[in-house]
Amino acid sequence: MPDPLLQISTRRTPQSEPIPGRSDQAKNNAGGYVFTLEPLDQLKRFLILGTEGGTYYTREHELTKRNAAVVMACLDNWPRLTIDTIVRISVEGRAPKPNPAIFALAVAASHRDEQARRWALDELATVCRTGTHLFTFLTYVEQFRGWGRGLRTAVANWYLDKSPQQVAYQTTKYASRGGWSHRDALRLSKPRPPRGLDMDMVLARAVGKADRCLGIVSEPGSGLEYVRMCEAVKEPKRATSVIVKMITDHKLPWEVLPSERLREPAIWEALVPHTGLTALVRNLGRLTDIGFIKPMSSGERAVVERLGSADDIKRSRIHPLQVLTALATYRQGHGDKGSLSWTPTAAVLGALEGMFYESFVNVVPTNKRTLIGLDVSGSMGMGNVAGSPLSPREAAAAFAMVMLRTEPQVATMAFSNDFVHLPLGRATSLGEAIRMTSGLPFQGTDCSLPMSWAQTNNIEVDTFVVITDNETWHGKVHPSQALAAYRRQMAIDAKLVVVGMTATNFTIADPKDAGMLDVVGFDTAAPALIADFSRGF
Ligand code: CA
Repeated sequence: MPDPLLQISTRRTPQSEPIPGRSDQAKNNAGGYVFTLEPLDQLKRFLILGTEGGTYYTREHELTKRNAAVVMACLDNWPRLTIDTIVRISVEGRAPKPNPAIFALAVAASHRDEQARRWALDELATVCRTGTHLFTFLTYVEQFRGWGRGLRTAVANWYLDKSPQQVAYQTTKYASRGGWSHRDALRLSKPRPPRGLDMDMVLARAVGKADRCLGIVSEPGSGLEYVRMCEAVKEPKRATSVIVKMITDHKLPWEVLPSERLREPAIWEALVPHTGLTALVRNLGRLTDIGFIKPMSSGERAVVERLGSADDIKRSRIHPLQVLTALATYRQGHGDKGSLSWTPTAAVLGALEGMFYESFVNVVPTNKRTLIGLDVSGSMGMGNVAGSPLSPREAAAAFAMVMLRTEPQVATMAFSNDFVHLPLGRATSLGEAIRMTSGLPFQGTDCSLPMSWAQTNNIEVDTFVVITDNETWHGKVHPSQALAAYRRQMAIDAKLVVVGMTATNFTIADPKDAGMLDVVGFDTAAPALIADFSRGF
């Protein structure tokens, strides 16, 4: 009879069972056992990745419920730290979309503890930097509370702490969103006391009382003058040259122009120099469709110059996933809705590639031998990352390219329940990387493979970087055990960084092992965090 005692091992445990003695493991959605994240680390995944689109295993609504519970638990236990985390991730532009941070702030602003509410409301203008953000916040906050004095004061101050020019800009560029307008927000918050004639006039215009401004001469450079310009450019009879001069002189944003005007190349020539990069990359299809961008045109040159400006990219805090989404959309030559279609130009595609790499926090190479393990299993091929059109494995391939281009000693290997051939190299284009990845078959998952593959092939690795949704279940050993075996056999104190691509609380990184780290995929700071850890800080 076989000895049943031979089947219990803390060094080789099938992923379908927890490691003996480790009560900190839990079953993932695929039925495998993994470690669980601390709530504050899961909060970071939520703030950066959001829940839009759900995952292969979890519907959007269920995933959102679980993450909302994490936000609430964090606020109950560490209110100050939670609010600081929300603010930091928002201000540093580390998330592709602002909504999870705005949602979390709205939950904090509704907390039963008065001090927590005040802390949250004090950060309203820091997290909600545009009128659209403010409207999003108001929608979320009404899901949890009413308009008490604290909320009224905070919203009133959102306006009053700005200059009249800034309020004029916010109220014209971001007029309304999701059923909210500035008129609603101002009527509910009643900003008092008066802050001078110009501010009063700008606010009067925003609540629709234009008649109060009749007969008032607007000073050059005032908020009222700006609001009046934004209205003047809407008049259909004005000559294009007049509109162009207004746009240039007052740096008017594209949002205040009627859509017919936005079909005129001359208008865009005036807009491009001061349009934000996020808006610019969203309009590339339109600009090509109307003929402003075409091979070797001055329009193409102006756009490519903006997209290639490192200073601009830093200042605008455009997120790499926004760039990647723009690249995927522009490359396909048509929009998702509407009648826009265009022939993409090579110069713009090239500029977007460069912009993608530039939009991460700059990384100094570690010169550590780095093996990137790319989970390309079935679950990574479903769902979308942070509401983008990219699946986790497509986004993972693009993310891997960042490290491929940074580190001198780096290799990639892809896996599902077995090794998968995916030849990514330094010179692979992003489009090619995504195309190669999306065509792979759907198979099971074994996240121990990068380590066991390197061990079998005698490959010397200082740092393993595994990009995954942590839904591993197929392997005969846990990833942490495979790493331990690798360290023993190769006599290298190798590290493991897990890059989580979904907002779950699972990780293959052992929290008790200082040589393992969990980071969030598509956090703009992730490559720098990985590099610091790899280097040994
Ligand atoms: Ca999987």
